[in-house]
Amino acid sequence: MKLTIGHLYPDLLNLYGDRGNIQCLRKRLEWRGIEAEVIPFISGDTIDFSKLDVVLLGGGSDREQELVCSHLQKIREDFRTYVEEDGVVLAVCGGYQLLGHYYKTQTKTIEGLGILDIKTEWEPERLIRNIVLDSPLFDTPVVGFENHGGRTYIGDHTPFGKVVFGLGNTGKSGQEGVIYKNVIATYLHGPLLPKNPHVCDYLLEHALQRKYGTEIHLEPLPDELEHKANSYIADRYNDKKYVLKETIKRYT
Ligand code: GLN
Repeated sequence: MKLTIGHLYPDLLNLYGDRGNIQCLRKRLEWRGIEAEVIPFISGDTIDFSKLDVVLLGGGSDREQELVCSHLQKIREDFRTYVEEDGVVLAVCGGYQLLGHYYKTQTKTIEGLGILDIKTEWEPERLIRNIVLDSPLFDTPVVGFENHGGRTYIGDHTPFGKVVFGLGNTGKSGQEGVIYKNVIATYLHGPLLPKNPHVCDYLLEHALQRKYGTEIHLEPLPDELEHKANSYIADRYNDKKYVLKETIKRYT
């Protein structure tokens, strides 16, 4: 078995270790004896989505998102078809925003792909902190780090998770990210996957199932360190005393 992972625009969209998500996808396949090929697509490259099994769209500053926008418009229809045909996508922060209709920054409106029925609008106070989610997809919490000026309004979409600690899509809705078909779109950097191996395996299993047409359950890996990293953050923010201290520190 083999999966091909397309890393879209690492020259522009690669904040806070998003590239680590690629390493994690690749290693967790290789550790199970499954071949992994990673193809980085620099802005302007032609992308043949029919050859891809997993697509990663990382985060970027407002400026980088503006630069990437014209390239995204050229691949819009192929990307949409890939998603509608159950292609697996992980979109993080700036990449998440660009899957929607638009991101209205302080100065301009950046047109998105319109694959998700969502919109994002900038507000002056950035939403920055560690974040813990309770996702309907998993029993284990999802942990990460968020840093965004955009507020994302997801309409009728299903959120990736309920915010246990942190701010999420708008800082007010109590929701974070979007799940749509085999797309996970989220504000969680960190990078997301090494601290959340369950999310990584979820994406890989769906990509393998789509490609090989049978239900696939990946064999477990010795994830003690990964689980420690995850529960260190999840437990820290479940501790009410700590949360209170953090909140006071942030607002004083
Ligand atoms: N530039 C976007 C924002 O600030 C996304 C930032 C990011 O990808 N971390 O909202």
